[in-house]
Amino acid sequence: MSSDCLFCRIIRREIPAAIVAEDEHAVAFRDIGPQAPTHVLVVPRQHVSTLDAVEDPQLIGNLMLLAAQVARAEGIVDAGYRTVINTNSGAGQTVFHLHVHVLGGRRLSWPPG
Ligand code: AMP
Ligand code: ZN
Repeated sequence: MSSDCLFCRIIRREIPAAIVAEDEHAVAFRDIGPQAPTHVLVVPRQHVSTLDAVEDPQLIGNLMLLAAQVARAEGIVDAGYRTVINTNSGAGQTVFHLHVHVLGGRRLSWPPG
């Protein structure tokens, strides 16, 4: 828990967000600047700044399973979807509370930019 962390504040319902799923480990909400028709962020309830700081394998496992559940609920599994974790600013990380992007609903090119 971090008092001035944006995603911790969303988890605590101090800042509004369109929450689409949650369980005891993680919360999923729509990205405020969607890059695809479905663009959901899945974040652990526990504050962890980056993937590099993760020590508990269950934390990342729980996160990815909720991401997969969100994709099923969004109906984007058969067409294909992408899960992305940006680590540090050179890779585009702007919010330093670990999050998985779930992107789908359009054709996704490879490699990413
Ligand atoms: P990243 O650039 O990988 O750190 O991803 C951070 C994401 O958080 C970006 O895609 C932003 O659009 C998104 N974001 C920033 N502020 C909010 C917010 N208040 N609610 C939902 N998503 C947000
Ligand atoms: Zn946080």
